[in-house]
Amino acid sequence: MLLGLDIGGTKIEGVIVSRNSNEILHRIRKPTLKNTYHDFFQSVASVVDELMSLEDVESIGIGCPGSINKVTGLVQRANILCLNGKDFLSDLKLSYPTVPIALTNDANCLAISEFETGAAQFAKNSCLAVILGTGCGGGIIINGCIVDGQHGLGGEIGHNPLPHFSEFKDGANTKCYCGASNCNELFVSGSGFERTWALKHHPLSAVKIFQKAELGDKTCIEHIDLYCDQLARLLASIVNIIDPEVIVLGGGMSNQDLVYRLVQKKMTQYTFSKSVTTPVVKAKHGDSSGVLGAVFLPLLK
Ligand SMILES: [Zn+2]
Repeated sequence: MLLGLDIGGTKIEGVIVSRNSNEILHRIRKPTLKNTYHDFFQSVASVVDELMSLEDVESIGIGCPGSINKVTGLVQRANILCLNGKDFLSDLKLSYPTVPIALTNDANCLAISEFETGAAQFAKNSCLAVILGTGCGGGIIINGCIVDGQHGLGGEIGHNPLPHFSEFKDGANTKCYCGASNCNELFVSGSGFERTWALKHHPLSAVKIFQKAELGDKTCIEHIDLYCDQLARLLASIVNIIDPEVIVLGGGMSNQDLVYRLVQKKMTQYTFSKSVTTPVVKAKHGDSSGVLGAVFLPLLK
């Protein structure tokens, strides 16, 4: 049996999956305690302990915010602040010395779950997964392995600058919280979509903008078209580097079917080769992608 954990800012979801059938046999959720690292670790351990009391577990995979710097071994850039600077993986290994444990971030988990059993299952070697939610992050699989990188930065596409940025098309120069300007996340995340809309119009939710566009609202249709152009620029810039077999989208913006039609059409305007046919598809596992990716993480090469 395989144990997977998805650690989020508010809750920890844990599952046990059968290795033979890929079926979820047990699922529990508990609140994430964040006051101190000790509290946080206890809340994680209570989920693991409860699941391990139910079945014989052969591996533990964990999806968690931030990333591990392979040089220092410490967690960095996690939005659960008490986790930053801590050697979380070593602490887990000390607590559970008999099972292999692996840990990665949520975008990597999306890539793994979709590559193993989801929308990218047909791909033999490579896949790019992009989360378009509150933020924007990416997970890259090449030759069946997650590209985590030496500093845990593999796939961190949200904080590269938006390709072909122009003030005329994309709006005024904008500083990102990370210190850089005009990061992809400021445009292609769900919050970015609403931010760029609110610069020009009365604030509206992303869902409302798509609903109005469906009813024929010209301003909303134009805004969605600009968004898909920005996303196409971002995806094309990655195709020009790793040329994956498939691109999977997750997060709130990935639920809008119109995005796929437009992005697919626009992407080749920006790729080096104009005959690129990389499919851009919706994640299959929805909210369970994090925890399922975590489950399969220890099995990757
Ligand atoms: Zn940034």
